Amino acid sequence: RLYNEVQDLKGNIRVYCRIRPFLPGQSKKQTAIEYIGENGELVVSNPSKHGKDTHRLFKFNKVFSLAATQEEVFLDTQPLIRSVLDGYNVCIFAYGQTGSGKTYTMSGPNLSSKEDWGVNYRALNDLFQISQSRRSTIVYDVGVQMVEIYNEQVRDLLVVDSSQRRYPLFDTTQPNGLAVPEASMHSVNSTADVLELMSIGLMNRAVGATALNERSSRSHSILTVHVRGKDLKTKAVLRGSLHLVDLAGSERVDRSEATGDRLKEAQHINKSLSALGDVIFALAQKNAHIPYRNSKLTQVLQSSLGGQAKTLMFVQLNPDVDSYAETVSTLKFAERVS
Ligand code: ADP
Ligand code: MG
Repeated sequence: RLYNEVQDLKGNIRVYCRIRPFLPGQSKKQTAIEYIGENGELVVSNPSKHGKDTHRLFKFNKVFSLAATQEEVFLDTQPLIRSVLDGYNVCIFAYGQTGSGKTYTMSGPNLSSKEDWGVNYRALNDLFQISQSRRSTIVYDVGVQMVEIYNEQVRDLLVVDSSQRRYPLFDTTQPNGLAVPEASMHSVNSTADVLELMSIGLMNRAVGATALNERSSRSHSILTVHVRGKDLKTKAVLRGSLHLVDLAGSERVDRSEATGDRLKEAQHINKSLSALGDVIFALAQKNAHIPYRNSKLTQVLQSSLGGQAKTLMFVQLNPDVDSYAETVSTLKFAERVS
């Protein structure tokens, strides 16, 4: 397939690859990353398999090297994020095995250091700054929802005890069909509000984690930002939304070992990730039928996938040879949707 043809086909779908660096203590490991090109080429190989070493070439819209900073990654998503203020619906996903840097890319390793902020805080910060700069002509309202999908069930991560509720619910008197149903919506006026809400969300997610052991890697988390802009002169109203999705780990679970709850979780994850792949593939092919109904994830995101909506997927990779099989399976998923 010629890359340019794929590009034309894809339209509103973009795929970026990000490789996380070796972590302290891992630095002596062999790498499976052989070549990173300027134009989105990536070659991986398994040097530990002497003789039958196969080099595989993949092509992305962009590949971020191990040294890419959070700022650099954000700058490549900024135009997409800003289009939300012009009424577009945007979905940004992070896909990859557990430990490949999905949460690092989307949220960052910790909230207290601005340098480390991931795409979601930077996106909200940017949206607030732009909306401020336009305030003499357009007034924007921003509402936030945060949910997790675990075993095909949606759980609101921002339900706070009513006595502590400090965030008024976003005015949804004119529903636009973009909101995640059954989840509370909170209006926010600054990045500080968002930081506070997100730490509530992360705390609520962690509560599940102690009970269910590393649940965060087995659930999808979706942060949704709703923007409503009203033109002061014409009174015209524009609506846009941004979904920031940290997907469940894509690693294959050994069917012979997993039983009970663990097997059920694995089946749900498998089903929803392949349903997502099918939807993006069908959109890229411009098929008449898009199979949204096959998972909770694609149902929740339906109004923001397809049509005029824009999609960006971060494909996250571990650099080490031990992860080679998962790396290839992640890259095959990416190849199908790109
Ligand atoms: P995932 O969410 O895919 O399971 P994490 O985001 O938790 O993976 O990343 C796994 C570990 O690698 C964490 O300790 C994280 O801080 C670190 N890490 C991931 N990406 C990077 C990066 N680009 N630079 C430095 N450390 C990273
Ligand atoms: Mg994670």
